[in-house]
Amino acid sequence: MKLIVCIKQVPDTAEVKLDPKTGRLIRDGVPSIINPDDKNALEAALRIKDENEGSTVTVVSMGPQQADIAMREALAMGADEAILISGREFGGSDTWATSYIIATALKKIGDYDMILCGRQAIDGDTAQVGPQIAEQLGIAQITYARDIKLNGRTVTVERMLEDGFQVVEAELPVLITAIKELNTPRYMTPRGIYKAYEKQVKIWGFADVPVDEAKIGLKGSPTNVNKTFSPEQKGKGEMLEGADRNTVKTLVEKLAEKHLL
Ligand SMILES: Cc1cc2nc3c(=O)[nH]c(=O)nc-3n(C[C@H](O)[C@H](O)[C@H](O)COP(=O)(O)OP(=O)(O)OC[C@H]3O[C@@H](n4cnc5c(N)ncnc54)[C@H](O)[C@@H]3O)c2cc1C
Repeated sequence: MKLIVCIKQVPDTAEVKLDPKTGRLIRDGVPSIINPDDKNALEAALRIKDENEGSTVTVVSMGPQQADIAMREALAMGADEAILISGREFGGSDTWATSYIIATALKKIGDYDMILCGRQAIDGDTAQVGPQIAEQLGIAQITYARDIKLNGRTVTVERMLEDGFQVVEAELPVLITAIKELNTPRYMTPRGIYKAYEKQVKIWGFADVPVDEAKIGLKGSPTNVNKTFSPEQKGKGEMLEGADRNTVKTLVEKLAEKHLL
């Protein structure tokens, strides 16, 4: 079984701060981590590998060279191979161009049985890249996976819905997006960390990924971000002190006044 996990390195905060002048993310001084959902995707792949002898897990990321540390962490958790797609030409790509580049790299890897992505990245937050990769590869996709069971070439997935879950079956190859309910990612082991630094993170530049230059970067991206901004801080609200009947009565009256009760 050949498993591929797409990993994005993101700033270590859900409170992404923007430079008010340029509208770009402030990355300085913010430590980077593997996107949380991607760790669940990796854990799912590692469990399938543990249960299916001869399986391999390849992690793929597109990002700057600093993403090397995220790749090492994935290797230390148990991935067999790491490929970092990195180059100036890829910069400025929107989600469609990003998924086109990643899908092209995955075609080059070839022979995959299952591709796992996180549901959503905590910085870009679109949840578009996984489904778009599946679309560009022309394979089935199952999103919001909270449970994955493999039986031969058939995968059965429980998809989280707002008010329950849905059971979906697909034949391999398939792309699945993971949510945090899927599993608890394992920790790196000291031996894993040691081995991770003995392995090589393959860097694939522009010349290594056979993409059409017209479809990547800012120019090749069909969407344009006109403006990004942090929403204005809302007022603090009114605080009622006390845990007695009178305070509760005042609270109920105030909510009724606003037609909230
Ligand atoms: C017009 C435009 C210009 C942009 N310019 C830039 C720019 O100059 N620099 C920049 O850094 N970003 C830029 N972006 C943002 C960039 O497109 C997104 O960061 C990227 O496409 C991922 O989208 P997302 O964060 O919403 O991921 P989501 O779709 O929320 O991620 C879902 C899953 O897809 C996978 N995934 C997502 N991204 C990657 C990745 N890079 N490598 C591997 N797996 C991945 C992960 O498994 C992740 O959990 C731009 C976006 C737009 C719209």
